[in-house]
Amino acid sequence: MEMEEVRMDSVMVFADLFDPVIKERHNGYDPRTMTHTTDLDASKIRSGVFDERYVLSSRVRTGRCIRGLSLPPACTRAERREVERVVVDALNGLRGEMAGQYFSLTNMTDQEQQQLIDDHFLFDKPVSPLLTCAGMARDWPDARGIWHNHQKTFLVWVNEEDHTRVISMEKGGNMKRVFERFCHGLLEVERLIKEKGWEFMWNKRLGYILTCPSNLGTGLRAGVHVNLPRLAKDPRFNQILDSLRLQKRGTGGVDSATTGTTFDISNLDRLGRSEVQLVQSVIDGVNYLIECEKRLERGQSITIPAPTVRK
Ligand code: ADP
Ligand code: MG
Repeated sequence: MEMEEVRMDSVMVFADLFDPVIKERHNGYDPRTMTHTTDLDASKIRSGVFDERYVLSSRVRTGRCIRGLSLPPACTRAERREVERVVVDALNGLRGEMAGQYFSLTNMTDQEQQQLIDDHFLFDKPVSPLLTCAGMARDWPDARGIWHNHQKTFLVWVNEEDHTRVISMEKGGNMKRVFERFCHGLLEVERLIKEKGWEFMWNKRLGYILTCPSNLGTGLRAGVHVNLPRLAKDPRFNQILDSLRLQKRGTGGVDSATTGTTFDISNLDRLGRSEVQLVQSVIDGVNYLIECEKRLERGQSITIPAPTVRK
């Protein structure tokens, strides 16, 4: 069953091609010699609440894909529908704060869809060449949708770039609480998926297997929308971000241009460090940026921290 092997593990089958890309992208992580660890114990997080004069919202997301069904660049329409069926069936088992509802893109008005995008809850339409050239806009919007709890603080995207994207988010700066909800919700989703007889794609060298090599490992992107009017204009801003292994995006998402001085700042790496380590690095890094902003307000000097090297 050669086809089956390729389908499960193209990232392993084509390791000669992928490994150097992975190593370059994830700060030197070598999939040939290293192993990846998962840690979803949010109680380990220290000082996880940001100064809300600067941080407007906090978010943690990952992706999870289901073993045995092809990833979005290659899946058939039937497989895509099967992903939707399996995931929505599992999510209907969520209870308490996590209880919610699924909204299919095919049943939504354009206006409802646009509102969810504008409110930062829903993925953008597949306009990025990265998505379209990889075949991820095929049959759009068939079998795509968003599930969210009633408070819209726990959300699951279905059949965008990955089978699922699992998201915890809220207004304000309480990253610790956002991460707690993320861990709890994600473990619940995994339990429910397993109950239905399915499992997530994972192996010990690459962690969770997601579509884009940049998302291997934890798949985790923890980020804030943060307003840094003075630091944004400082020529050292990008070097400081590089040193802290942080990535900057526009507030409209990965393909949006930056407008003004508010940015989406998140961890750059996802592999070879645990979820707890990555979230802590974002907390410490963003606090450093806020400290720089405050020093610039007072006319004091700022310094570029020493680069973060893999330990
Ligand atoms: P992802 O890495 O999850 O695919 P994108 O950059 O594509 O993220 O953004 C998806 C959506 O999530 C966008 O609408 C973006 O504005 C929103 N978003 C990302 N980070 C935050 C945040 N910290 N607060 C509020 N919304 C956010
Ligand atoms: Mg994206």
